Amino acid sequence: MSYEVAALARLIEQFERLPGIGRKTAQRLAFHVLNLSEQEAKAFAEAIAQAHQKIRRCSVCCNLSEGELCPICARSGRDKSTICVVEDPRDVMAIERTHEYNGVYHVLHGVISPMNGIGPEELTVKELLARMNSDVKEVIMATNPTVEGEATAMYLSRLLKPLGVAVSRLAYGVPVGADLEYADEVTLLRAIEGRQEL
Ligand code: ZN
Repeated sequence: MSYEVAALARLIEQFERLPGIGRKTAQRLAFHVLNLSEQEAKAFAEAIAQAHQKIRRCSVCCNLSEGELCPICARSGRDKSTICVVEDPRDVMAIERTHEYNGVYHVLHGVISPMNGIGPEELTVKELLARMNSDVKEVIMATNPTVEGEATAMYLSRLLKPLGVAVSRLAYGVPVGADLEYADEVTLLRAIEGRQEL
């Protein structure tokens, strides 16, 4: 009996570690999981394990991918001459929801933040520079409109412009300090359409 209680405590503890989950919610989720059928519980656990095993970074854009190339890089219909630089894979999902952007992406996996000890080496800047060739016409900086996001956009712009590529910044639209991820589709679409040269 005590073993089962310990197992429940461990489950609650795991949920409590998730972002935005307090003790009470963790308990609620743990009891929900307890009430799942054996099969449902297995599927849930397997989804977590498989996500870890299978998902890696696309070898071109560094977005999350199950294969060597993510589905966006793999599609022949996407315009490879325009690269939209974002902080996070969730920003790719947000822009994809507009259904209007037909270029490709580059996922930085963060922003330059000296306060948090994050420099360009911690991001995928090297990989972005490696993509620059004569086929690339424009790089759109779609980092979040925060101090770090702006600084990162400026930093990258200074690196890219001497390579002869046009660099633009989203026209915000998206409120300063806000997360791109939470912008609605219309706002995001206007931000892309109204982008200005940096
Ligand atoms: Zn990709």
